[in-house]
Amino acid sequence: MTKEVEGVYPAGGAHMVGDGFKVVNYFPNGNRLGKKISPFFLLDYHPSYNYPPTNKKRGVGVHPHRGFETVTMTFEGYVAHNDSAGNSGVIGPGDVQWMTAGSGVLHKEYHEKEFAAKGGSMQMLQLWVNLPRAAKMTTPKYQAITKEMIPIVTLPGNAGKLLVIAGSFNGTKGPASTFTPINIYRVQLNQGGQVAFTLPQQHNTGILVINGNVKINSNETVGENNFLLFGYSGNEIKAMAESDAEFIVLDGEPINEPVVQYGPFLMNTPAEINQAIEDVNNGKFGVLKDD
Ligand code: MN
Repeated sequence: MTKEVEGVYPAGGAHMVGDGFKVVNYFPNGNRLGKKISPFFLLDYHPSYNYPPTNKKRGVGVHPHRGFETVTMTFEGYVAHNDSAGNSGVIGPGDVQWMTAGSGVLHKEYHEKEFAAKGGSMQMLQLWVNLPRAAKMTTPKYQAITKEMIPIVTLPGNAGKLLVIAGSFNGTKGPASTFTPINIYRVQLNQGGQVAFTLPQQHNTGILVINGNVKINSNETVGENNFLLFGYSGNEIKAMAESDAEFIVLDGEPINEPVVQYGPFLMNTPAEINQAIEDVNNGKFGVLKDD
């Protein structure tokens, strides 16, 4: 049975994250999506934007996270990061960084130095994936998922390709390790190309179109930079590209636990938020300098 479409949501207005990431937000702000998209909590998408050259650091300075995971996907441009555990790296086009903040990290996220010096197009997204209560204080870790590690499924009929980042598609497994059942795909269709998915009915599922126009279930056209949320009836999704198109599929089993957010902390209770603030102030997240 076809999965029902609950709604199509346009991007909100763009805002800057630090001085380096001009993003639009789909959830949790400004609409009903936040409650219907667990285990995903926040989605900031950075449509393609051309930055002029700079010799200054451009991005977000040192800040903490606890209780969830940040998933950063870069389509154009290079994002550099450093954290209080001594990890650092660069996320380039096609790469995915899956950071489990767990019990807590301090980190900073910047345009990579040479990329910033030359200037150029940045297109990326950051997704926050909630952790179940039992894993909120897990040891922080990184999965540096490079482009080469992501399997590509060639779709029949010259339809295009599907990259499996997390979970699986028709038996092809993605490299990301997750704490709860999650499927994340990046789909690139040629004009007229089609793809079908079967995803669990009880999961929360959405599609973010990042290039072109896509027709979902033969009747719902989703334009560039729009997010489509599915409801809970049916499990089959069909997508057809009305132009060359690219979209991200987010699908996951909801975590049915209380959620309390305060800035960069995502916990189950207000007391745990207070503890997070106290732990940051007492240096328990480690040390990382802004430079
Ligand atoms: Mn961050």
